[in-house]
Amino acid sequence: MFVPKQALFDKRALNYPLGVHIYDQIKSKENIKIIETSGNKIKSIIENGDGENFYKKGKQTLVVGIKTKGEFQTCKPSAHYQLPLVSGCMGQCEYCYLHTQLGTRPYVKVNVNIDEILGQAEKYMASRPNDITIFEGAATSDPLCVERYTQALETSIRFFADHPNGRFRFVTKYNNVEELLNIDHRNHTEIRFSINTDKIIKAYEHHTASLSQRLKAAGKVIAAGYPVGFLIAPVFVYDGWQQEYEQLISNLKDSVSTNPSHLFFFEIITHRYTPRAKSIITEIFPNTTLPMSDEERQYKYGQFGYGKFVYPKENMNDIKSFFQEKIPFYFPESEIKYIV
Ligand code: SF4
Repeated sequence: MFVPKQALFDKRALNYPLGVHIYDQIKSKENIKIIETSGNKIKSIIENGDGENFYKKGKQTLVVGIKTKGEFQTCKPSAHYQLPLVSGCMGQCEYCYLHTQLGTRPYVKVNVNIDEILGQAEKYMASRPNDITIFEGAATSDPLCVERYTQALETSIRFFADHPNGRFRFVTKYNNVEELLNIDHRNHTEIRFSINTDKIIKAYEHHTASLSQRLKAAGKVIAAGYPVGFLIAPVFVYDGWQQEYEQLISNLKDSVSTNPSHLFFFEIITHRYTPRAKSIITEIFPNTTLPMSDEERQYKYGQFGYGKFVYPKENMNDIKSFFQEKIPFYFPESEIKYIV
């Protein structure tokens, strides 16, 4: 569970029941400093310094605010729209996908106007009455790490359970799923676990749950009947990568084999980085061993208007054939949603 050193409350957040609820929880904790502020002063309050200190201080800060813009961003290929419950994360993964967009905002921000956010989701669903509309809850965060403060996932799972043409999904590297197990989710929420080889998690995914904790949590949500997916990401090519990723898939099978008929969804994302992410990573993790040699990569333009360095075609072909063979071998009932 995230225990910040400081909690910044946007004054507007205290007009909402969830804002007050979080305030009451935080004020009972001795070691968390509470600061009330206005939305545009957040960055200046998180003391500036060199990149590393600003990042570390940001990572120890919880911001309680509101989502001001009504529209949601789209979210391909994972969903139709992002569901903006939380942004940022307590984790310190060196290759975090948030570096590019949230590099200057490393704090965790929870939006307490959840009824307004879900009301906006309702409008999107109403505009597509004959189709299923999917919302992604982890596009800019890992919302499970603050769930005990917000219950935002619980509220959203209940909300989508009541909407026949709405689906909710989120992905996590944490394991505190207990509060979600008894919810009547009606199969409208898919919980995915982001996993990687033990070696990669230990080397790069600081302040997250271990692989075995994630697999145990996956077993619990499977037993609770949730649709479950696994995001294997980011996949690296290194000496012995095939053996280690096969071991991972085999371990996964052993951990979830209590329910072999469960249909699992897999998403496979290879390692990539933007020039901006690389400069942030090398600033906040000066001793990083992440492979980011531009000459060994191919530059590709993405959907958000900026380019990134991805593995070259030969590596991509190897990765695709590997997972297309191994996943059906260990999980014949599964579906691979994409390999990118
Ligand atoms: Fe980023 Fe996910 Fe790691 Fe959090 S757990 S730091 S969101 S990659």
